[in-house]
Amino acid sequence: MERCPFCGWQLISCSCVFKKLGYAYKEKTWDEETKSLRGHPTCGLPKDVYEKGLPPKQEKKWHKILEKKGRIPYIVYPLLCSRCGEHWPDFFMVPDDVWEHYVEPMERDSIICMPCFREIVTLIDGDPDVLALLNDKAILHFHG
Ligand SMILES: [Zn+2]
Ligand SMILES: [Zn+2]
Repeated sequence: MERCPFCGWQLISCSCVFKKLGYAYKEKTWDEETKSLRGHPTCGLPKDVYEKGLPPKQEKKWHKILEKKGRIPYIVYPLLCSRCGEHWPDFFMVPDDVWEHYVEPMERDSIICMPCFREIVTLIDGDPDVLALLNDKAILHFHG
């Protein structure tokens, strides 16, 4: 996500755009008592802008303001399997004791892809229970 050069937050979710364009933007605040957001119903913005976003003219103006300030280029640092270098491997989870049994201390904070982990298990002791666990993708995958 591109960062906002004014506040450092994600550009698409910060409110600098409204402030810089001169709107009286008012952040809604969380109200502990009623467990809901409170504040101005349209955050101090014209209803149209609040509901549909900026008109194209203002959008352009905002882009000029951004350009002038200097945009922060979004640079991707891909996650790699630390063994085979696979980009963005599917994440999976195994119990800590299993992880520590197979993965050497220096690599325990690394990302290891499923095929590599399976290979490591096979190389070390080939524990059939662990290998069965690794085949049960439905339980292990929480992403991808
Ligand atoms: Zn911002
Ligand atoms: Zn790998």
